[in-house]
Amino acid sequence: MPHILIDETRCKGCGLCTIACPKKLVSLSDTPNSLGVAMAVFSGPEKCTGCSLCAEMCPDVAISVFKE
Ligand code: SF4
Ligand code: SF4
Repeated sequence: MPHILIDETRCKGCGLCTIACPKKLVSLSDTPNSLGVAMAVFSGPEKCTGCSLCAEMCPDVAISVFKE
């Protein structure tokens, strides 16, 4: 099943990926992580197509896409 992983050490919480996902599967966390960043959160693989638009939009190369 296609899904993504977001690297906590790279994400700066800019939110560009949340706009990029056509399925609205990425949002920003309500609470900061251990680095003080309200980072991007993937809301589940059920609707993910593996299109990679979120990863292509990320300026910090924080998103890895797995197509299977
Ligand atoms: S790979 Fe595509 S469908 Fe999946 S989270 Fe990223 S933008 Fe959304
Ligand atoms: S685009 Fe990248 S750095 Fe910005 S919130 Fe999304 S994963 Fe984090």
